[in-house]
Order: sequence, then C-alpha cells, then structure tokens
Amino acid sequence: MIPEKILHFIGGRQVPSVSGRTFDVADPVTNAVYAQAAAGDTDDVDRAVEAAAQAFAAGPWPGMAARARAKVLGRIADAIESRADELASLETFDTGLPITQARGQAARAAENFRFFADVIVAQHEDAFSSPAQLGYVLRKPAGVAGLITPWNTPFMLESWKLAPALAAGCTVVLKPAEWTPLSASLLPDIMTEAGVPDGAFNVVHGIGEQAGAALVAHPGVPLISFTGETTTGQIIMASAAAHLKGLSMELGGKSPCVIFADADLDLAIDSALFGVFSLNGERCTAGSRILAERSVYDSVVSRLASRAARIRVGSPSDPATEVGALVHQEHYERVMSYVAAGVAEGARLVAGGGRPAGLATGNYLAATVFADVTPSMRIFREEIFGPVVCVTPFGSQEEAVSLANDTRYGLAAYIWTSDLRRAHRVASAVEAGMTWVNSHNVRDLRTPFGGIKASGLGHEGGQHSIDFYTQSRIVHVALGDTHVPRFGA
Ligand code: NAD
Repeated sequence: MIPEKILHFIGGRQVPSVSGRTFDVADPVTNAVYAQAAAGDTDDVDRAVEAAAQAFAAGPWPGMAARARAKVLGRIADAIESRADELASLETFDTGLPITQARGQAARAAENFRFFADVIVAQHEDAFSSPAQLGYVLRKPAGVAGLITPWNTPFMLESWKLAPALAAGCTVVLKPAEWTPLSASLLPDIMTEAGVPDGAFNVVHGIGEQAGAALVAHPGVPLISFTGETTTGQIIMASAAAHLKGLSMELGGKSPCVIFADADLDLAIDSALFGVFSLNGERCTAGSRILAERSVYDSVVSRLASRAARIRVGSPSDPATEVGALVHQEHYERVMSYVAAGVAEGARLVAGGGRPAGLATGNYLAATVFADVTPSMRIFREEIFGPVVCVTPFGSQEEAVSLANDTRYGLAAYIWTSDLRRAHRVASAVEAGMTWVNSHNVRDLRTPFGGIKASGLGHEGGQHSIDFYTQSRIVHVALGDTHVPRFGA
C-alpha cells in the first residue's frame, strides 16, 4: 500500500513537521505527485537529535553487550526479509529501479544488518604490553550519528549506514533523500518490531538544504556519514568544520572500465554492460567510461552498440525490464542534456540517445552508447548518473592508465586482461579507491568501501565502519615504578 502521507519518526513516534509543512513526492513513471512528506527543518532536527541524545545518555542501547545488540540487528534483518516483496515494490514504484534489481537491493539491505551483527560480536581491541606499561584500547560509540543518504538505491544505502552505526552503539538521525522517501517509511515498524529502543533510531524527512543542513550544523551530532554528490559533500564539510565533526564522505564517480585486447571479451562486454546499465545507470560505481585497446576497439564498440540496442527499457515493475525509469523529471532532463552535449561535442552516438519506442511518457531513456569520446568532452569528464556510456580507444598500457586517471574522480575501476602481471601493475597505477580485475562490482562486505580524489573521504565497510562510528581511546597503566623527573625539587 502506498501511503499518502510520509511522516518523521522521532522518539518512537510518527510525527508531522513542527511547522506543518510538507513537500510533494512524485513517481518516475507518471511524474504525478503520489504523497506528501513531512518537510523537516531545524525544529524537527532539534527534536530528533534531542530524542537520540536522550537515548544515548540514558541507554540502554550504547551500553548493551555486543551480543544483545547483535540479536536486535538480526531481528531487523528478519523483519526486512519478511517484508522483502513489499519493500522491493515500494522501492521500484518510488525510484523507477527494475523490480528484479530492487529485490536484490532488499536482500542486500537485510544482509548489511546480519553482517554488522557478526562484526560487532567478533570485535576485539588492541593491547600493548611492555615490562613497564600496559596499554589497552577502550572503544566507545561516538554518540548521535547523522546519516544522510541519496536516492539511487535508497533503502540499501540507508541500511549500509544504519547497520554499522547501530551495531557500534550509536543512536541515529537519518535524513533520507527527498526524491525517494517511500521505502524509509517501512523502517519505523521494522525497528520497533525488532526491539530498537525508542529514540535510538529517528528519521527526519525533508529537503537537503533544510533538514540535511540542519543535521550537519547541529552541535549535538558529532558524526555525519554522507553519500551523495561531490558538490554537496563540499558544502557539508564546510558546515561541519565549525564543530570539527567526524565525516565519512561517499561521493560521485566516473569510473573507467579498461578492456585490453587479451581479455575474455565476451565476459568483459557482459560485465561492462551490466556495470553501467544496471540500476538504470544511477550507480556511483558505474563503469561509465569504457577504455578499449585499439586492436579490439571497433569490435568492442559494435558489440556494445548492438547489445545496448536490445536492452529492455520499460515499466520498472515488469520482471523482464532491464532499465526502468530515471528517478525524477529533473534528473531525466539533466541526463538528456548530457546526451545532447555528447552529440554537440562530436561524440559518435552508436546506440540509444532518446526515448525508446512506445514509451511516450515517463523518465525513460534507451541504453545509450557514445563512441570516439575524447577526454575534453563533458560526457567523459562529468558524472551523468544515467544509462549513458562513453567508449574511448587507447594504444598502450601507459595511455590506458593516463586516460583512466584523467578525471577528478577516483571511486572504482575495472580492468579486463588475461595478463596477470599487467593486471597488478595497472591496478596499482589506476587512481581508484576500489579496483576490480576481471569482474564487475562484487562486494565483500569486509573490505574498505570508498573513493579517493573527488569521490570521497574515509572508508566504510567491515571494521572501517565500526572505526568511524566509535571513538577508540587508549589507557596507559604503569606496571612498575614510574620514573618522574622532579621539577622544582
Ligand atoms: P545529493 O548530494 O543531491 O543528495 C544526497 C543527500 O544529501 C540527500 O538526502 C539530500 O537531501 C542531502 N543534501 C542535499 N543538500 C544538502 C546540504 N546542503 N546539507 C545536507 N544535506 C544535503 O545526491 P543525490 O543526487 O541524491 O545522489 C546522487 C549522487 O550520489 C551521485 O553523485 C552519486 O555518485 C552519489 N553516490 C555515491 C555513492 C558512493 O558510495 N560513493 C553511492 C551512491 C550515490
């Protein structure tokens, strides 16, 4: 059931905004407004932070044994799994992601909670001993964590922050993306049913520049975990500086997919297509610049073009759909403006570039492939975040690396070759926080996730997430006689 009203969740209760204000939420297939969501601002954020701070100070959540918290996280995972169909269909309705892929994201959200339940139970700390001194680390949850998330895979990314923050013992205020607030409206019931204490989990909906900015500026929130655009990240860093907040920044990308002539081309083409066209191309780690060695370049271009032309674009709720509707009319127009820029700058359009036949309304774009893209073109340099891929030839390994690194971003990279030595050399030379060799983006949740350069700051994933959401403090204990210089004696 699609609700007509979406409310905040503060201190265990669903509430409207203090101001009574709401904002419109539309679906990407009709672009019609389907709900009014509470539009939070400073007053609502103040209330949510107060509830979270109270839950942090009075407990029980931060002081619970790891096993007890882990049990609650396990129940959250169970509750997500029991609602997986509903969750996937709400997500598909609100984001335009194909239903099969939304189901995958729902399963991954549950897995995030299970995984961090395991991490926290296995958590151990360092101790340092010498004859004179014993040092041991005490790890404390950092306090109220502010979590700000984007619209591309909303529920999954919310879970990616909520699971480690709650596992670490923080209490949280979540600010979901305003274009896609729907799936987060399932969280209050899920959290309450699982036994998360009132006030430990809070949601404030609203526009980024209002609700998000108020959360970042709040002195009672020592940590902000943000996923979104690089320019928003820069604004957040500037505002957070006033309170020296801990920041985790997962930002934009323009990741290269480098295909050498000796690669398994069948697999490389499958992976390149999946990497950029899955999740409607609205994927931070999309391999949106395909670099192909000149001897296979023509064949790579024609294979990408003919496969892209057959990609099924259509209703997000149809299980046969491979690319659905882009999230919002404004984003659709932005992506279309990049298609126009590619054509205007002289790139060769070999597939897509417009609406697929039979889809006269809705935010639909056929899978689009541009060949002969040069590094000076905007479509090579800027993140498009839609079903659009650039293909560029290279002549040597050095040129491949230099093209791969010719971007302000450094999130992911994909390398396809059967030469093991070259694979390692290129993986080391490519400026990316995460590189995959002969694979698309397959995550091991223990590994560090994050980008370098303009793609982010800090890493989450496994222990890295726990490090972010906790403070580690060292205690030094003298074991013998302490030699003290006697000033003024
Ligand atoms: P966005 O930056 O516009 O918004 C992200 C969130 O920030 C939203 O909740 C928004 O309301 C909030 N926000 C906006 N302005 C704010 C402000 N001044 N203060 C505080 N909060 C504010 O990003 P988007 O358009 O929702 O998402 C797409 C972007 O996210 C792309 O650039 C994509 O690459 C990136 N992304 C990165 C990762 C990653 O892990 N690196 C993952 C997914 C998406």
